[in-house]
Amino acid sequence: MSPAELFALPFMQRALIAALLTGLAAPAIGTFLVQRRLALMGDGIGHVAVTGVAIGLVTNTSPTWAAVVVAVLGAVLIETIRERGQTNGDVALALLFYGGLAGGILVSGIDGQSASSLNRYLFGSLTTISAGDVIVTMVLSVAVIGLSVGLAPQLFAVAQDQEFARVAGLQVRAYNLLVAVLAAVSVTVAMRTVGLLLVSALMVVPVATSQQLTRSFRTTIGAAMVLGAFASVGGLVLATFASYKATVAPGPTIVLLALACYVVAWPIGIWTRHRARLREPFAEGQIPLHESCEEHPHAHGPGCGHLAVPHDDHVDYVHDGHRHAEHGAHYDEH
Ligand SMILES: [Zn+2]
Ligand SMILES: [Zn+2]
Ligand SMILES: [Zn+2]
Repeated sequence: MSPAELFALPFMQRALIAALLTGLAAPAIGTFLVQRRLALMGDGIGHVAVTGVAIGLVTNTSPTWAAVVVAVLGAVLIETIRERGQTNGDVALALLFYGGLAGGILVSGIDGQSASSLNRYLFGSLTTISAGDVIVTMVLSVAVIGLSVGLAPQLFAVAQDQEFARVAGLQVRAYNLLVAVLAAVSVTVAMRTVGLLLVSALMVVPVATSQQLTRSFRTTIGAAMVLGAFASVGGLVLATFASYKATVAPGPTIVLLALACYVVAWPIGIWTRHRARLREPFAEGQIPLHESCEEHPHAHGPGCGHLAVPHDDHVDYVHDGHRHAEHGAHYDEH
């Protein structure tokens, strides 16, 4: 069978649509998790979702919808523990992850046949996606993409500086919960593509790659979505061609392709940051390299908590690995 004939088959077309949508949705919400240094939250939700899938399989209801419900409950619980927790927050999360995974395997084992079905969700199974699954994937991923991109300024402000966002009148708690719920939904959407055990990779790796190459928040989220879509569709196509010779699963291929993009972007990122440092910081008409003021809610000043570096006639502040100074209505990167 030629590649053209293969990709004309309905099951391959369903797989391509699902791969494209999850590749766009997972990094869109993943950007805010990375921003808040919660890169492994998707992984935790993925473990909790295993129990949801198992309940769906055993009760003969939809594993996808059962996973959505359990993952959203798990995400709200994780967010509540994170918000309240002080020292033992990570231990509480770990207990939840292991409980989710062990519970799922236990529940699915009660019904002997579903243990192998559970594998499809743990490691992904793009090519067995039904027409109904594709419609659910479409609805849920469009919701995730729409809310992540549409509410990006508010979600960014909350992720960047909770205190400032609260003072500015944003409903910090509501936005944090929204991020947790959208992360849970995108975990369940992506579980058929890359599997629950690798789901976090699709939410985090394209974002990390994008951060190597972009500076402003808007370009980071946009480039992360392009990279996620490229890795998902490209990984599926690669795995399909490789399957002429051997059994190659799309899920791991997608994740390895996303990691390969990171490996390529890493030296480019080092080089462009080096070039940027060599530039004249106050050159005429130069576009500011750091975020402009509406994207930089933290006001630097004496005692603001960031390292102050006196520099010529002004003071620079070291912040998130950047060294910059306020200049008119924006910040200049040094
Ligand atoms: Zn300076
Ligand atoms: Zn700053
Ligand atoms: Zn300037």
